[in-house]
Amino acid sequence: MEITKENRKWLDSMGLSHPIVIAGPCSAETEEQVLKTAHELKNTDTNVFRAGIWKPRTRPGGFEGVGEIGLPWLQKVKEETGMLVTTEVGNANHVELALKHDIDILWIGARTTVNPFVVQEIADALKGVDKPVLVKNPVNPDLALWLGAVERFQTAGISQLGVIHRGFSTYKSTHYRNKPKWQIAIELKKEFPNLPLILDPSHICGRRDTLLDVSQTALDLNYDGFMIETHIDPDNAWSDAAQQVTPTQLSQITDDLKIRQKSSSKEEFQRKLTMFRKELDLIDTNLIDLLKDRMGISEGIGQLKKKENVAILQSARWADILKKMIDRGQKNGLNKEFIEQIFRAIHVESINIQHHIK
Ligand code: PEP
Ligand code: MN
Repeated sequence: MEITKENRKWLDSMGLSHPIVIAGPCSAETEEQVLKTAHELKNTDTNVFRAGIWKPRTRPGGFEGVGEIGLPWLQKVKEETGMLVTTEVGNANHVELALKHDIDILWIGARTTVNPFVVQEIADALKGVDKPVLVKNPVNPDLALWLGAVERFQTAGISQLGVIHRGFSTYKSTHYRNKPKWQIAIELKKEFPNLPLILDPSHICGRRDTLLDVSQTALDLNYDGFMIETHIDPDNAWSDAAQQVTPTQLSQITDDLKIRQKSSSKEEFQRKLTMFRKELDLIDTNLIDLLKDRMGISEGIGQLKKKENVAILQSARWADILKKMIDRGQKNGLNKEFIEQIFRAIHVESINIQHHIK
């Protein structure tokens, strides 16, 4: 799969001066709740209004969304506020209805991304339509499955794409509702730098007091924006009450986020940074050369031991080296664990080399 700048036109063409903000309630509950929330969000940084019309619930009996009757409410949001609107689609029928009601952006929920049959069904239903599709990560930490879903949409002719990082379920409850596992998103960003990456801190945190912290981490990792659940009366929301914030609280979060400069263009800064980097490169090259020499000596020792039929592992000598190096490291202001890790790795490799002597 190849993702180019063409695939992020839907976002770039908005010409935003801040990361994109998608906000709105977990679920559309009533027309009044939807419109009131939207009008309050109009005074915030929100660019796209979200609301779940069909809600995938873990257990039966919960509120499963208002369904089709909520779609005209989203059309009203568009007419009255000018914001774009988005909702989750979970099957081909949802797609048909969302398109009929002119929903601007569609998102694929975490429980849908896990199922290639359903993803394909949705992608097929979207053939010939070019609305942006945002794919949430699957509930399980599987980058290939996440990307596979994106690829199914691209193959079906959807060119406007993006992904939403909403965290991964765990068996035991933790500090997070869904663990972020940042490494997965970092890898995705490294492989597909043009694919818009949006953070959904609401479903990661499951509570409102940690939203800012998690959002700041994403901003420091150059995410393109946020999807944050926002409700006029969060405590009385029909779904995900604990994690929703009011439009005013949302503004507080977006105001508090520190947007860091990617790098300073100041010449002095650039010059010094280049110098430091060159120095580091030089030292790293030296480290490799030294390691090569050291392993060469280990090989020599190995041959000697083999000839004399002496055991490879000399525990007392190894303990002595480790102690000396830790002492020396500490005298030079280096962390004990760091030195210990390095020398353990060197020792393991050195023993390996000696074992492989024929
Ligand atoms: C949601 O955004 O309300 C939702 C159901 O999200 P997820 O698919 O991430 O659980
Ligand atoms: Mn929700």
